[in-house]
Amino acid sequence: MAKSLYLNKVQMQAELSRCLGCKLKPCAKACPIGVSPADFIALAKAQKEPEAARHILARNPLAGICGLICPDKFCQKSCTRGNIDFPINIPKLQATLVANAAPDSLYEKLPAYNGRQIAVIGAGPAGMAATAALVGQGCKVTLFEAVERIGGALNLIPEERLPQEVIRQDWSRIEANGRITLKLKTKVVDFKALLKQGFDSVIVAIGAPVVTPLNIEGEALSLPFDDYLNAPEKYKASGRVAVIGGGNVAADCALTAKAQGALSVEMFVRRRISDMRISKAEYLDLLAHQVDICAKTSPEKISKDKDGLTLTVHQNTFKDGKWEAEPNTSLELKHYDLIIKAVGSRPIEYEEDARIIFCGDCKNGTTTAVEAVASGQMAAMVALQNTLEERKAV
Ligand SMILES: Cc1cc2nc3c(=O)[nH]c(=O)nc-3n(C[C@H](O)[C@H](O)[C@H](O)COP(=O)(O)OP(=O)(O)OC[C@H]3O[C@@H](n4cnc5c(N)ncnc54)[C@H](O)[C@@H]3O)c2cc1C
Ligand code: SF4
Repeated sequence: MAKSLYLNKVQMQAELSRCLGCKLKPCAKACPIGVSPADFIALAKAQKEPEAARHILARNPLAGICGLICPDKFCQKSCTRGNIDFPINIPKLQATLVANAAPDSLYEKLPAYNGRQIAVIGAGPAGMAATAALVGQGCKVTLFEAVERIGGALNLIPEERLPQEVIRQDWSRIEANGRITLKLKTKVVDFKALLKQGFDSVIVAIGAPVVTPLNIEGEALSLPFDDYLNAPEKYKASGRVAVIGGGNVAADCALTAKAQGALSVEMFVRRRISDMRISKAEYLDLLAHQVDICAKTSPEKISKDKDGLTLTVHQNTFKDGKWEAEPNTSLELKHYDLIIKAVGSRPIEYEEDARIIFCGDCKNGTTTAVEAVASGQMAAMVALQNTLEERKAV
């Protein structure tokens, strides 16, 4: 595992000592699932690292994962220390504490089985978090996953940022009990049929599977980000690569293309650089790897000839409260080996039902791992509440 993802002992002490122990805990209020950095840092400062790790895991079953990939827009953005110099590196502290001191199981003591069987569809962060919350409340869970491994979209994040081992470790802590049946390579097509099979409730956490289209001429010549990140070696390009999009998915595509040996990689971003949905660290990483960022630029057309792909782009301008194409700014850029589209993915259209509950990116569109965890936990509580009310009504 890449060591630089974690803090060493000296770095850990230095970071802990910077925390001001704010009474109002703004860092905890900013966490979508209510993890309290103020409290786990206090425990770690008192040399109670296992207690600190337990404290984190009590709220966040995917704490190892989130520690490595949480963006800086939550706890770090609200950290008071940022007013003095720079925020505490809370995610890295969390990742290190969990890696060094987490117990093997998420549950200190499981409640007795409450007689409820819940089906969870999709083993991404939302499905894993829903499963953990349901088991923690005494349910039995069958988790259905279409592909051969757990993790969902997390599996597309490059190993340098999120090692597969960390996904496995977080999952093994959730799974360390007899209440979960994991069915890999099992795609569920009919959600309602599971109710007829005896499940009390169904939680659907199937992610946002539809890659947002560019809606431009020649779009078929571009490669969707999920196809690329699933097998980058298959699309190895040694020349010029374009990535269309400005979020962290696009950034991962750009850095992966560089790592695969591309001579030049350009990102085309519709709005300003400051509007990009990436952290400062990710931005600096792009610069360090000589990725060119073309801001306020949108694709117009893709074509192909004997010399490769041509991308026609235009400039955008902010006018009357919205971004629009600036007239007469079209520009033909030639000789691309690969054009990757990474402008996001869309939620599915679904019909809500008291016993079929949707959560995570399939409900909210592309979000973040921690928001998917929050959504999965909420769905688990709703499922539990609904089955309770139904039983009362019988
Ligand atoms: C390249 C990339 C980089 C990212 N970087 C970050 C980051 O740095 N920080 C961050 O917080 N977030 C990041 N994200 C976003 C984060 O990964 C997602 O928000 C999160 O994974 C969504 O979780 P989910 O459980 O809702 O869906 P997913 O993770 O998409 O999981 C859905 C699961 O459902 C399964 N499934 C689908 N249909 C069925 C079916 N019919 N039957 C059974 N199973 C099914 C799928 O195989 C998949 O395993 C990134 C995403 C990508 C793609
Ligand atoms: S806001 Fe920052 S400085 Fe204050 S308690 Fe939280 S982590 Fe420490």
